[in-house]
Amino acid sequence: MKTETADIVVIGAGIAGASAAAALAETHRIIVLERESFPGMHSTGRSAALFSEIYGSAPIRALSRASRSFLYAPPAGFVDGPVVRQRGALHIASTAQLAALDSFCMLPDVGPSIQRLTAAEARTLCPILKEDYVEAAALETGSADVDVNLLHQGWLRQLKSRGGKLIVDAEVVSLSRIAIGWRVETPDLRIEARVVIDAAGAWADVIAELAGVKTVGLQPNRRTALIVDSPADSQSDQWPMVIDIDEQFYFRPDAGALLLSPGDETPTEPCDAQPEELDVAIAVDRVQQATTLEVRRIRRSWAGLRSFVADRSPVVGYAPDARGFFWLAGQGGYGIQTAPAMGRLACALVKGEPVPDDLAAFGVDAHDLRPDRFH
Ligand SMILES: Cc1cc2nc3c(=O)[nH]c(=O)nc-3n(C[C@H](O)[C@H](O)[C@H](O)COP(=O)(O)OP(=O)(O)OC[C@H]3O[C@@H](n4cnc5c(N)ncnc54)[C@H](O)[C@@H]3O)c2cc1C
Repeated sequence: MKTETADIVVIGAGIAGASAAAALAETHRIIVLERESFPGMHSTGRSAALFSEIYGSAPIRALSRASRSFLYAPPAGFVDGPVVRQRGALHIASTAQLAALDSFCMLPDVGPSIQRLTAAEARTLCPILKEDYVEAAALETGSADVDVNLLHQGWLRQLKSRGGKLIVDAEVVSLSRIAIGWRVETPDLRIEARVVIDAAGAWADVIAELAGVKTVGLQPNRRTALIVDSPADSQSDQWPMVIDIDEQFYFRPDAGALLLSPGDETPTEPCDAQPEELDVAIAVDRVQQATTLEVRRIRRSWAGLRSFVADRSPVVGYAPDARGFFWLAGQGGYGIQTAPAMGRLACALVKGEPVPDDLAAFGVDAHDLRPDRFH
């Protein structure tokens, strides 16, 4: 078996692994190992592609705020076109959900980013909302659609241009400690490196088990999405993304059609997630209850995994029980919008440096994300 050496091996070439690897490749010899034949086949390629600074836990919101400037103005040469396209996010509430909407709007870092709207104002933005369903709404104007593939490919290209290496069809099957750090094995290759970064998405705990490292209790949850036709002559492309305040459903324009989700979170084993007919039907039913949309056919549907630890914030930092094993996991439903800040944060922490000042200024605190909070 061929043996290679590197400073750092990154396991997983999804958006998490790619963003961290690209940042680290500026100063280190990096090898990224991806089990599939192309990167982005799992969660990264299956998202709803939303950027919102008010979505998720407080640490997630800080990481998202810190990612904004990169997404809106990436460095010269990083990508060919715009990574984001502005699209408001309209959080809607029925009468029974007014208290939930009020509590959400009162969160200190949410309030300044949103505008309260009456039901009538909400309907001018999205005319299919039913008069007898929506009671009030809150609009985030600073949210956007993300071109996930463009962003992901930008980091993979940057990794390559900095001398880093991506190896696909390379499933990590064994991890063992050696004097310099770690021996990482795939069926065809052995790599020796000082540091291993576990960016294996839903499989991050599986990788920890292979390495004999204490797991963090990562729970992959299946989420379903589907594409349906927009109403004829509706100018739906101008609509905001519409999100039920309890995230029981959401929908947004998608290339002339509509993307719907039932906001499901079904616990599952790490796997190639597939949509269940029932979840597709629930999405259609919930959206039809809130709107005048009549869904006649499902163009396509898919499912992906959103993986969380108990407090629903990511896990970033060296394992307390295994020298040189670095966690980059638990991005849940926010791994795309937080990737610019997460990649740089991971890079700094791997090198033993403090959180970069510009990230800290947005409230990013490594303490909130540290792996030893579970032990
Ligand atoms: C339906 C849905 C909607 C979402 N919407 C949004 C959204 O609007 N905004 C947002 O920011 N986020 C969203 N997300 C979440 C986002 O997609 C994830 O947080 C993000 O993609 C996680 O990236 P990752 O790199 O950690 O995981 P992944 O993309 O899953 O990458 C992990 C990689 O590790 C590889 N791997 C695993 N085990 C091994 C091994 N043994 N050896 C080698 N490689 C291995 C896998 O093959 C995989 O490619 C959504 C997710 C879903 C499913």
